[in-house]
Amino acid sequence: MGDNRGPDRRVGDDDPAISTTDHIGLAETHSAHNYDPLPVVIAEGEGAWVTDVEGRHYLDLLAGYSALNFGHRNPELLAAAQWQLGRVTLTSRAFYNDRFAPFVTALSGMVGKDQVLPMNTGAEAVETAIKVARRWAYDVKGVPDGEATIVVAGGNFHGRTTTIISFSEDPEAYTGFGPYTPGFRTVPYGDADAVEAAVGPTTAAVLVEPVQGEAGVLVPPPDYLPRLREICDRERVLLIADEVQSGLGRTGTIAACEHTGVEPDAYLFGKALGGGVLPVSAMVANEEVLGVVRPGQHGSTFGGNPLAGALGSTVVRMLREGPYLADARALGEVMRTRLKEFGGAGVLATRTIGPWAGIDVDPSLASGRELCERLAARGVLAKEAHGSTIRLSPPFVVSEEDLNWGLDQVAAVLTDLRASAGSA
Ligand SMILES: *Cc1c(COP(=O)(O)O)cnc(C)c1O
Repeated sequence: MGDNRGPDRRVGDDDPAISTTDHIGLAETHSAHNYDPLPVVIAEGEGAWVTDVEGRHYLDLLAGYSALNFGHRNPELLAAAQWQLGRVTLTSRAFYNDRFAPFVTALSGMVGKDQVLPMNTGAEAVETAIKVARRWAYDVKGVPDGEATIVVAGGNFHGRTTTIISFSEDPEAYTGFGPYTPGFRTVPYGDADAVEAAVGPTTAAVLVEPVQGEAGVLVPPPDYLPRLREICDRERVLLIADEVQSGLGRTGTIAACEHTGVEPDAYLFGKALGGGVLPVSAMVANEEVLGVVRPGQHGSTFGGNPLAGALGSTVVRMLREGPYLADARALGEVMRTRLKEFGGAGVLATRTIGPWAGIDVDPSLASGRELCERLAARGVLAKEAHGSTIRLSPPFVVSEEDLNWGLDQVAAVLTDLRASAGSA
């Protein structure tokens, strides 16, 4: 006691003794090292901006991996949460709650499906889809029990559970965590022929990200999803779109699948569905798919809770009625135009879809990590994907002026790196 470094002492946001260094020191000592954060300790957020414990401001071009599509502390979402906090926050699914029906009705209606199975994290939505697809294969398709397979794409990111990492190709995510869950076949992303060759009478589903986010904002060829749709229809296989990151406006549309006019059998949503306040996720599909789940077979204590329902319904209303999709598209245009300037020495490729971009930097110029450190030093927060790729996913509430300023900082970091490479 009396020592502000001890775990007993409350870390107050107005306590000047707790500096960035102190916070990082305590965190490194008392938290598992399952992340390697940039050395920025965020204390407050508003809109597209955050402030650290020392009062420095940063433009947030990561937006919580798209969990913060509507920005930090969006007033509409805060109002919905605050209203609900004054009523009831958790009931469990042992009972109905009065936010549940409005939420599942709004979310299913948003994508033209019948039913929703609400969960919390994105990984749980993926786990739900795996269980539902297997059950559908046995009960509806007639696959012999225990033989169902699910076709997935190389380079995928679907979450961190033991089953999900069983079909990850990322050695960091996979190595040393076996034994692995069987029943998955991995084929290269963007290759419909490979999917066609992999599906057969025991295939339950093809599970795919319409745009691969963690892999570096990889947009597949335009005929990829339409061909998967054809193959799945022909072979009687469910097409499941993991839209946890790509959905809810990130590509300028409610679902990224819309860009190719493909309707999957199931959508998985998460991240932005909780409005940046809570983890809220869901599998959304028709009754002929979700109807295979009977009471007691799947669920979650927190899934469909009233606070989540209030936030999820508000997110759906904001997407349908608010300016957010139009704003996302306008920001996407700014990014598409500006990123063309970034081509040239040291930049191997840039990709954009909506306000979502991946920039592949020549690894000899800098690692993605170093780029992000240099960006943070200039007041911009971003996160590398794999290797030397950085991904930008601004919140939809960023002003064009601020976004342009942020992109100026990216350009300046690239210029600095080229200059030091040239003089080396
Ligand atoms: C983030 C993400 C997940 C996992 O979501 P969590 O909430 O972290 O469990 C699943 N799929 C995709 C495509 C994601 O981007």
